[in-house]
Amino acid sequence: MKSRLAPKKLSFEQGGSFISETRLEVELYLASRRTRAWGRAQLYAKTFVAFALLAVSWATLIFVRPGVALGLVALAGAALGAILVGFCVQHDANHGAYFRSRRFNHLMGWSSDSLLGFSSYAWRVKHNVAHHTYTNVEGYDDDINQAPFIRLTPTTQPRWWYRLQHIYIWPLYCLMVLRWQTGADIAALIRGRIANSRMHPPKRWDLAGLIGGKLVFVTWAIAVPLLVYPWWVVLAGYVAFTMATSLVTATTFQLAHCVEEADFATPEGVAASGKPWAVHEVESTVDFCPRNPVLTWMLGGLNYQIEHHLFPRVPHTHYPRIAQIVRRNAAKYGVRYTAQPSLLRALRSHHRHLRALGRQGVPVEIEMG
Ligand SMILES: [Zn+2]
Repeated sequence: MKSRLAPKKLSFEQGGSFISETRLEVELYLASRRTRAWGRAQLYAKTFVAFALLAVSWATLIFVRPGVALGLVALAGAALGAILVGFCVQHDANHGAYFRSRRFNHLMGWSSDSLLGFSSYAWRVKHNVAHHTYTNVEGYDDDINQAPFIRLTPTTQPRWWYRLQHIYIWPLYCLMVLRWQTGADIAALIRGRIANSRMHPPKRWDLAGLIGGKLVFVTWAIAVPLLVYPWWVVLAGYVAFTMATSLVTATTFQLAHCVEEADFATPEGVAASGKPWAVHEVESTVDFCPRNPVLTWMLGGLNYQIEHHLFPRVPHTHYPRIAQIVRRNAAKYGVRYTAQPSLLRALRSHHRHLRALGRQGVPVEIEMG
């Protein structure tokens, strides 16, 4: 099988009874001012916890200069704070779900530049456009475009080393955020596109935000710690912090899209099938652990990834309730809706998907005689 070059223009069928009815019901649910206020209050409270956890952990490391045990606890606190900022603050804000105003959303979305080290400007193209519009579509969704390191989609050309991808993928996941912070942001700026989605050169405030964000991040995460600790302690701490945030982020996204139950598509398949966009989103996405309140809180509702893909501009704190509506209408209109009941089941499905794709296309010896 050969990886094809995707055509430039790709559009899905819009509308359909499933999404029309679902949207009406979700609008009815959100019509209550009290419901909306409660959702935002939960979002803002979580933001406070995320910022406070990161700030207190960092201040402990810099000003208290604790011993190894407390130092590791503070580092873990910083990593958890960063994960919360990634899932529960910047993600909602960069989707426009945090405030009504676009400007304020971009300002809060800048938390990814300043606190996590990757560009919110590039993220909005990579995530909002390439991933959310063309989920699991070859050549368009940058998240599944990981050749020659990993084969995540059936249309990626097989290579012998993919046979071991279910093993070596885990250390690679640990490097994901480091890649975004450095090469991926710069490569996107130079190429002017992410997958097949155009990225215009940032201007004025966007450019200032990008450069200023990198400077702020490098200052608090590397420069200030170097004033307090030897370089090898800072290096080890920074690598551990980034690897922990990377692993949790990559795994969360992969469990929602790169599993046996999720559909993958080619641009030609999308054009030929005539499947409405909303149905494609539900069938290329999987929820996991919907009844786990700790994961639901920590992952910013991204274990309800189906609901997130259908309603990315609604604060994630509403997803558990919206899931009931989506699930019911999916059953009514024959749309395949999958929710893995446990983390273990979701991880196993991801593992089997990687193994199956890693083995495809490897020559099989035929014994004559
Ligand atoms: Zn998203």
